[in-house]
Parts: sequence; structure tokens; C-alpha cells
Amino acid sequence: MGNRAFNFNAGPAALPLEVLQRAQEEFVDFKGIGMSIMEISHRSAEYEQVHNETQELLKRIFGIPNGYQILFLQGGASTQFAMIPMNFLKAGKVGSYVLTGAWAEKAIQEAKLFGEVAIAASSAEQKFMKIPDLSEIKLDPNSAYLHVTSNETIEGAQFQAFPETGNIPLIADMSSDILSRPVDVSKFSMIYAGAQKNLGPSGVTVAIIKDEMLQDLPKSIPTMMRYETHSKNNSLYNTPPAYSIYMVNLVLKWIEEQGGLSVIEKNNIEKAGLIYSAIDQSGGFYRGPVDTGSRSPMNITFRLQNEELEKQFVKESEKNGFVGLKGHRSVGGLRASTYNAVPYASCKALADFMADFQSRNS
Ligand SMILES: *Cc1c(COP(=O)(O)O)cnc(C)c1O
Repeated sequence: MGNRAFNFNAGPAALPLEVLQRAQEEFVDFKGIGMSIMEISHRSAEYEQVHNETQELLKRIFGIPNGYQILFLQGGASTQFAMIPMNFLKAGKVGSYVLTGAWAEKAIQEAKLFGEVAIAASSAEQKFMKIPDLSEIKLDPNSAYLHVTSNETIEGAQFQAFPETGNIPLIADMSSDILSRPVDVSKFSMIYAGAQKNLGPSGVTVAIIKDEMLQDLPKSIPTMMRYETHSKNNSLYNTPPAYSIYMVNLVLKWIEEQGGLSVIEKNNIEKAGLIYSAIDQSGGFYRGPVDTGSRSPMNITFRLQNEELEKQFVKESEKNGFVGLKGHRSVGGLRASTYNAVPYASCKALADFMADFQSRNS
């Protein structure tokens, strides 16, 4: 497939070529039923098999212990920003958040609509270029939960370890780094992720929730916004985003074929290492603004001496087959998103392009 772009999009993002080809093979006639998976009932045996297998694959690959529900929800990770406080932020309690960047900020704004919010730690003063040290987290003992954003997609900063919260449930938005590395799921009461960065296409949000979180939830919440509705009905209360879930199924099988999360993590570190090296060895031509201890292997942000040169970099990169290297409009600069499905060859090509661009412009 010589015509595939070097795709560094932040989300929706690259999917493994093998997954796209497999989906293509099954597109018109899914497993000999004479219809696509999109054209059949979500109550059919064929669909239910895909649905349940996707949960089993995720459980196995991510090492999810017994006692957790795996839900397929809609409305993106952004809807979880509201559903979490609606379901879990009881009156008299505080919702605690670590403020690490643009996505954490959005989660906090939503929680404020439903109750009292506390900022347990913040890196706002560092312009979010560093994840707070775990020792800086001051957790109110009256917290309903502590919410963290494991990887800030826009700034390019990632938690390298997670806080111990004792009896207080730890909730993580892992939208941009889920399944990029092994994680001790048992530390978390809830993990959620919009699929379109590391799990599949847009349209489905995966939520992994400990059973005990689903007890005694307020009855006043609209049906579709209640986790209980989805857990009691195996995420089949209403029509699920069947095609997106099918694609997640194929991505999970691909991860397993790669050798699972330890291999995926090793590959991700190698891939990101190529680009971070190009930055670090440029003698200041490229600048990585994120503290080295918080650097994300998923979203690599970097700057050039001035915006003029950054614009030129984007323009020339596009001419050379690179896509998605412009930084988020809110922070500027450049960003290479190197999710699981971005091949080593794309990262190598980018590192080479960076060296070439430098030699022509310094
Ligand atoms: C992309 C992203 C979101 C928003 O996801 P949607 O599915 O578009 O709502 C939330 N959190 C993080 C960390 C993200 O990267």
C-alpha cells in the first residue's frame, strides 16, 4: 500500500492497515450472512458475538480483573465529563481533579455544573508542561473520587505513575493513551476512553467501571445518563454503535497479534524516541516544551524558533506526505501523534524529514 499517508493525526487517528483491510474483506458480506455488520439487528446472534467478544478481548489484553463492567457508550469522552459527576458526585462530597491541561479543564468545568469541585493538584503555573509530582496531590478526604487525565493530548504530557488514593475511587480519562502500555487496572475504579485515538474509529466510548461504583446511584438521572442502565443491559439498552464496536474488536485482535501491551509499549517508546531524539539532538533548532519526565510517547509536541518557520515546516511536511503535524489551535507549535497504529516507518520518515528540514533552514 504505497499510497498510505504518514498519518500523525491527533484524533480520529491512524488505524492499523491490517485492520482496515480485514474490515474491507468483511464489509459487504460479514461471515457469509449476505449482509454487512451494519445492516443487522443489535439483538442478532452475529452482532452479539462481536459485542461480547470485544469485551472479552479488552478484559484479556488490558488485564481487567473480575468485578468490573466494560461498557460501550456514546457521546464521546466529553459526555463522560458530565456523567461522572451526575452519577458519582453525591451531595456533601467534593469531586477532586488533577488539573493537567485542556482536557482536565473541560472535565472540571462539567463537574462544576453538578457539585463542588476541588483541584487536588495543578500544573497551570507550568503552562501544563509538566505533570504534577504525585507528592503534590492534596486529596480532600471528603472526595467522591479523584479524576486524572492520564495523557494530555493537546499539550503532550503523560502521567508516568498514578496516585494511591486509598478508599477514594480513582477515575482516569485515558482517551489518548489507553492500551499504549500495561496499566494496573485494579488501582482504578473507572477508566474511560473515546475510541478514536488508540482503540478504533469515533462513535464509541469505552468505560471500565468497578461493580461497587454502580451501587446506590441517584435515581433522578435520565436513563441514558445512568451507568446502571448500560451495565444492567450489557450496553444493549438501546442501539449501540455497532460498526465502531466491530472496528474496536479488530483493533484489539491486532494488538494481541502484535504480542500484547508490553510489546506495544516497547514499540511506542522506540517510535517516540526517534522523534524526541530529532528534537534533542537538533542543538536548539527544535524545542520540546514538555518537561522530560512528563513527555508523552503518544503526542509529541515541539516548537521552532518562530511561527513563520513552524508554518513553513507544516507546509513542507504536507508536500512530503505527512499529515496532522500542526499543533492544536489553542497552543500552536507542532505535534506528532504517534498512537499504537502509527508505524515505525512513519516515525523514522518524520525524524529524517526533521533533520533534512533543519539542514536546509539553519
Ligand atoms: C480527545 C479527547 C477527549 C474528547 O473525546 P471526544 O470523544 O471527542 O469527546 C477527552 N479527553 C482526552 C484526553 C482526549 O484526548
